[in-house]
Amino acid sequence: MATLEVKDLHVEVTDDEQKKSREILKGVNLSMKTGEIHAIMGPNGTGKSTLSQTIMGQPAYHVTQGDILLNGESIVNMPVDERARKGLFLGMQYPAEIQGVTNAEFLRAAMNARRPADDQISVMAFLKELDKNLALLNMSESMTERYLNEGFSGGEKKRNEILQLLMIKPSFALLDEIDSGLDIDALQVVSKGVNSMRGDNFGSLIITHYQRLLNYIVPDVVHVMMGGRIVKTGNADLAKTLEKEGYAGLRDDLNIDV
Ligand code: ADP
Ligand code: MG
Ligand code: MG
Repeated sequence: MATLEVKDLHVEVTDDEQKKSREILKGVNLSMKTGEIHAIMGPNGTGKSTLSQTIMGQPAYHVTQGDILLNGESIVNMPVDERARKGLFLGMQYPAEIQGVTNAEFLRAAMNARRPADDQISVMAFLKELDKNLALLNMSESMTERYLNEGFSGGEKKRNEILQLLMIKPSFALLDEIDSGLDIDALQVVSKGVNSMRGDNFGSLIITHYQRLLNYIVPDVVHVMMGGRIVKTGNADLAKTLEKEGYAGLRDDLNIDV
């Protein structure tokens, strides 16, 4: 079993134009283990993406207080690639396009990065695994010979993020608005991919604006984030209540001013 703990996390970003730092996360606590799927919901601009980027180690986000522990070990000073090797994966809201690296090359390198130098994956084993996952996601093989995300449609990028997830098999996947811009068919495919990962060796933190995704990937725990803090935690029903009553209702209930 692997664990991921966020403890009293405070994070600042520096606004390039104003050359000023601003605190975005104001004491986030979160504790999860493999076998569990957690969802984070919350209005726009409350720091959901900031949390996922900070857990992954994007350098624009400065931890000013608190800690992030992976299997009990602090990772806040580790670079992104080291966190990835240790089993973290971030599926992004806006995946980057990378010229000159094909999707297949990227996938194989990312898989090998998580394996010891004397146990790199063979070409045969790689292609077998790739074919299996392409079929699961209804993706064409030609996608894997194209440059990473270049010219991919929004839906193709999201599917491709899930392909990466299935191939790399991280311990924890942080999935940031993987449902945004997806039609219902793509949403079902993406959900099928994530659900196929469910099990004792996999945990996920699913960030979403809408409850819809959580009909397909039913979370064990739902957190609501507002104003840089987790203000409420519950089970899958909490997402349904939110869908009905909106964030405004919760804001009133909790008497918070954000
Ligand atoms: P959410 O994902 O909940 O919509 P974000 O984490 O994207 O929220 O953003 C929270 C706040 O932090 C916003 O005001 C946003 O403008 C700011 N922010 C996030 N990332 C950066 C960044 N890299 N540089 C400057 N401001 C940022
Ligand atoms: Mg946003
Ligand atoms: Mg966001």
